[in-house]
Amino acid sequence: MHDSQASNEIVLQGIAASPGLAYGPSFIFLQKEFEVPRFDVPEDERDGEVQRFENALLTTRTEINELRAQVADKLGEEEAQIFDAHMLVLEDRALIEETIREHKETGFNIEHCFNTVARRYIDAFGRIDDEYIKERVTDIRDVTRRLMQKLLGYRGLGIDQWDQARIVVSEYISPSDTAALDRERVLAMLTNGGSRTSHAVIMARSLQVPAVVGMHDVTERVKTGDMLFVDGYEGLVVVNPSEATRLRYQKMRETRSRVRAVFQQACEEEAVCQDKHRFHLLANVEGEEDLGETSRNAAEGVGLYRTENLFLKQEQFPSEEGQFVVYKKMVEALEGKPITIRTLDLGGDKSLATCLFPEKEENPFMGFRAIRFCLEYSHLFKDQLRAILRASAFGKVKILYPMICCVNEVIQANRFLEEAKNELRERGLDFDASIEVGSMIEVPSAAYTIDLLAEHCAFFSIGTNDLIQYMLAVDRVNDRIAHLYQPNHPAVLRTIRHVVDQAHKKGVEVALCGEMAGDPLYAPLLMGMGLDALSLSPSSLPEIRYLLRKTSFKEAQALAKRVLEESNAKITFDLLRRYYFDLVGDVLSDDPS
Ligand code: PEP
Ligand code: MG
Repeated sequence: MHDSQASNEIVLQGIAASPGLAYGPSFIFLQKEFEVPRFDVPEDERDGEVQRFENALLTTRTEINELRAQVADKLGEEEAQIFDAHMLVLEDRALIEETIREHKETGFNIEHCFNTVARRYIDAFGRIDDEYIKERVTDIRDVTRRLMQKLLGYRGLGIDQWDQARIVVSEYISPSDTAALDRERVLAMLTNGGSRTSHAVIMARSLQVPAVVGMHDVTERVKTGDMLFVDGYEGLVVVNPSEATRLRYQKMRETRSRVRAVFQQACEEEAVCQDKHRFHLLANVEGEEDLGETSRNAAEGVGLYRTENLFLKQEQFPSEEGQFVVYKKMVEALEGKPITIRTLDLGGDKSLATCLFPEKEENPFMGFRAIRFCLEYSHLFKDQLRAILRASAFGKVKILYPMICCVNEVIQANRFLEEAKNELRERGLDFDASIEVGSMIEVPSAAYTIDLLAEHCAFFSIGTNDLIQYMLAVDRVNDRIAHLYQPNHPAVLRTIRHVVDQAHKKGVEVALCGEMAGDPLYAPLLMGMGLDALSLSPSSLPEIRYLLRKTSFKEAQALAKRVLEESNAKITFDLLRRYYFDLVGDVLSDDPS
């Protein structure tokens, strides 16, 4: 991070993660994992301590009742019943009395005592191999966390209490925090850690919230209420900007909006190159709220629907019925356009605090993630498969498995899919019996066995966000090594080329749905490398469509040939930049600034 000082303004540099400009007051959001303190409570204060516990129980009950009503309203009675189970835990006299007894006997503070007793229950129940009991453990965990937040005075983002829209400044923002963001109230996001391909950032892009990440100590340099200017294009943040800076940025805002309007115009025109070659441009979506932009920006359909959001928002596993309602709504909203629904990709930086993810993993991206989780918790996987299948009766649906490493995983997943189909047949429910199934290609072992996978897959989608991290051994969310995360590394580019060539030999189409697809520097290269489709964040569609229409397939192929011969990543980058500016130069040169 570098600073420049003019009057009392400070300029901080981070990683440009989600484009856009924002100006407004900051809100510092410190959310370290809460540690439960332990201290002695003097004897004459112990009654007060019990009272504090009773009060926290009361407010938590009120909060759960409110949540229940909201969920019943939005998702239906069945989904809301989970909160009845939470109420039962909160009203469990054994748990409450044991906590109070523990407090009286040890004299320790009440949060420590409650935590000790709850853990005792969780450990004891967790050892019982019974699905029903396992669910009760989840309930106890959820309720414990909620109650603990009350006792420790932990406040979430608390957006509801803000008097105005703000810029969130945080150490780290998790995908579930982002899922709860209200795009009207959050002007931008700044974080100490993070990277362009962390899931919270991908969600911010989809919400069109500008973001700058990897800012190291921004939470210490900014105070709540400081006025900030955020430039999500360049990764710059100006703290307390001077009048002159504000005017400069006002001008920049006008230029950006003029360029955007030019790109937007491309969405009214066909998605064909100068030489009439056709590419499919599809959208990556996180939920129903992204479909408006998807259709405004003329996507041919949804190439990647990341279903995790549905799970993260509720911090619960939605039932088959709950998922079906959401999937069906999305399929219908697309009015016949295809939608590729990816099965659950939990794990990595998208973990749920449930009994199914009991411990923090040392290497979560290489751990119990995605298809690995689904194959082990097959009842949850089949709930999702049945929900997707049922939605397939209402439009054109495809299924995509994440993080496939070997053929056997696809075979096993397909076996569960067949079981799910049979179960629906028994229930007399409709679905598309010949639904297409594909695999994400995001692990090197899958990329180099693509010919074998092709025997079991109708299509492939390359996930470069993960492929890059797994190929280069660079954690995608670690800002310390973000400079080593190189999409233009020859190994990455050769692997993409290999996948495309080998899949095409087997007659299987290949899309690419990593963030590279929406990056204007890389999109022409990917077209030239022979990808059949690009799937990208809806907000990036206008610019990529503009580039597509400006280029010719022949030129893009020549670019790909030249780039693939190059061993020096810096020269590759310069080639891509030059190509990009040749395509958009006329729009930018009209720039009045
Ligand atoms: C990818 O890895 O490129 C991808 C699209 O999946 P996700 O970013 O959700 O891991
Ligand atoms: Mg991935």
